[in-house]
Amino acid sequence: MPTARCLRDSRSRPEAGGSRVQATGRHSETDARARTVAFHTLGCKLNQFETEALASEFTRAGYRVVGSDEAADCRIINTCTVTGKADRKSRNTVNRAVRSAGDDDSLVVVTGCFAAEHREELEQAGVTYVVENDRKRKVFELVDAHFRGEVMHPNQLERDLFSYQPSTNVFRTRAMLKVQDGCDNFCSFCIIPKVRGRAASRPVDAIIENLKAVIDSGYREVVLTGVNMTRYDDYGFPFSGMLERVLQTAGEFRVRISSIEPDSLDERFFSLLTHPKLCPHLHLCLQSGSERVLLQMRRQYTAAEYRRIAERIRTDNPLFNLSTDVIVGFPGETDEDFAATVALCRALEFSHIHTFPYSPRSGTRAARSHHQVPAAVKKRRAAVIRSVSEETQHRYYQRFVGCSQQVLLEQVRLGRTMVGNGYGEHYLPVLVQNDRSSEDSAQVMQPNDFVDVTITELSGRTEPVLAARPRHPSLVTT
Ligand code: SF4
Repeated sequence: MPTARCLRDSRSRPEAGGSRVQATGRHSETDARARTVAFHTLGCKLNQFETEALASEFTRAGYRVVGSDEAADCRIINTCTVTGKADRKSRNTVNRAVRSAGDDDSLVVVTGCFAAEHREELEQAGVTYVVENDRKRKVFELVDAHFRGEVMHPNQLERDLFSYQPSTNVFRTRAMLKVQDGCDNFCSFCIIPKVRGRAASRPVDAIIENLKAVIDSGYREVVLTGVNMTRYDDYGFPFSGMLERVLQTAGEFRVRISSIEPDSLDERFFSLLTHPKLCPHLHLCLQSGSERVLLQMRRQYTAAEYRRIAERIRTDNPLFNLSTDVIVGFPGETDEDFAATVALCRALEFSHIHTFPYSPRSGTRAARSHHQVPAAVKKRRAAVIRSVSEETQHRYYQRFVGCSQQVLLEQVRLGRTMVGNGYGEHYLPVLVQNDRSSEDSAQVMQPNDFVDVTITELSGRTEPVLAARPRHPSLVTT
């Protein structure tokens, strides 16, 4: 439990049970346009999307978004609870914010999955408002009302999963687009259905409207995000149908799919994987290569099915980028089970394996198992998977040397030569070196440009980067 004291004066402190906040009205005496807000985001792409959308809303209303380590009138923390480590990070971030709030006399708002599970603890720690995930969309309303001196409880906010406003370029160059939330799968290790709720899909027309808005505002890359996107279902309209509508939308942009589950993939989905606007990269969650463990995890696919899906994708496009998540030390995981995971990971040559030592989540079926794996074994297995990941990553990246990529530049620096960095369509980091260093070349490579390059070499072992040269400098897209 956090030990941070409650640092606001009693007029702005939640009453017993955190039921109601009396706004001081003090802030309403100053100009709202001068107010500052700092965001801290933990966890998944969905949280990142939601924070970006909220930050854009505050910016549009005249607030100034400042860095998370700067003084601010309001701190908003979007938390995560997917593992014990995520809990620790969320708790530490909140404690730090409460301490800084004492120095700044500012507001602390906590939302996200950790908040859903630890409301009371957060209220006792001195957080001003704890907001449920499905009311997160309305955080601006709550904060703005507070600064106007109005009294509002977070539970008065409307439940609303999807009507986030299109993000403006607050934090990064690629726009995320929330298409789905929640999950009905109830994998035995996962707390997400409890903290994010049941599966819900954003209507396809609203997705296209949001997409057009972000393209019009200049984004050239859009990432579709959701908790379990392959279960997207807009009254019978499936994920592949929604994806097709997204890809058919006019404009010069490319689309990425963030993490997806390897079940419920239909033929239309596979045929879209070669669409020129769709990036050839999938983060396809594996979790284990053991049939027995997958069954215990209550996953919706077998290891053999996963392998077939991966091989099919790579048959159509041998350089297709597959990355994945693996949990090691799931209750009852034997050396043979683990060996099956290692073998499958080696065979499928992932570009990256995100490794999670199993972490019991309270209230889940796996947490109640009597066959918990000792921490030392989990640690050893995690180290093995990390080393397999490094090995397959290096082999995979190496295959790009001599190949072409289309890089979306994120930053450009002009020194003796002009160097830009960004990601190719396969979602590998690329450093583009342009020998031309005149003012003229500054017009050739600019952030948010697509640049066609040839990969010349691979550098770095643990964090590899592809070095490249523009293919036709005079033909670079601007
Ligand atoms: S599919 Fe399983 S792991 Fe993924 S969010 Fe749903 S319950 Fe959790």
